[in-house]
Amino acid sequence: MTKKIICLFDVDGTLTNPRQAIKPTVEKFLLETVQKEFDIAVVGGSDIEKIKEQLGGGSIFKKYKYVFAENGLIAFKDGKQLPTETIQSIVGEEALQDLINFCLKYISELHLPFKRGTFIEFRTGMLNVSPVGRNCTTKERIQYYEYDVEHQIRQKFIQAIKKEFPDLALTYSIGGQISFDVFPLGWDKTYCLRHIQGYHEIHFFGDKTAEGGNDYEIYESDLTVGHRVTCPEDTINQLNILMALSKEKQEREQST
Ligand SMILES: [Mg+2]
Repeated sequence: MTKKIICLFDVDGTLTNPRQAIKPTVEKFLLETVQKEFDIAVVGGSDIEKIKEQLGGGSIFKKYKYVFAENGLIAFKDGKQLPTETIQSIVGEEALQDLINFCLKYISELHLPFKRGTFIEFRTGMLNVSPVGRNCTTKERIQYYEYDVEHQIRQKFIQAIKKEFPDLALTYSIGGQISFDVFPLGWDKTYCLRHIQGYHEIHFFGDKTAEGGNDYEIYESDLTVGHRVTCPEDTINQLNILMALSKEKQEREQST
């Protein structure tokens, strides 16, 4: 019997360069080569609009069996949206407001080389907090990122939140260049796995698989076979290896 396999991909750094659209060669490979062997799905931390921008607009639902935005809090199977939960339903309005107020106050007292707009983005299952503001140009993102690496702005910010709210069951995850995500425990990318049913193996591909990275939990999960990649080209290489192995296995099984 052939094993039913689904390949689940992180978006930024795995299928695309950070915040960029997928390259036609990468997309063609997924849709014309990989999809002949396996079902394919995507899981990103950003909202559905950003993922659509990167992966080809409305037709994204025809291309991928599952599309997961915000770690799977926003989930589509065959283009149909699945039921969801919200951060406010779990954390509670009161505690959530205390947290937001603390972040705004902390940001107001930060002095950086520059600041732009949109410091807190409220998403379905998480807050995205950016000390510099999300309305940065690409150049400014890189400038801020270098400053952040040197001065550990995001790390210190997270430590301050943890100290202020030791009892909140929240996770803090630094992904990308200018922000960090705050979400309930367990609402990392493993959240999306509850929606995937009917496969013998789920192969996950991600670039931030080290501890503290936003692919760490799903990469380590017992429910997935994890693949650590360095860029979209490396994802293609590893898919070629996976397809070759799976073909070999099938041939071996057929000959016995
Ligand atoms: Mg990534």
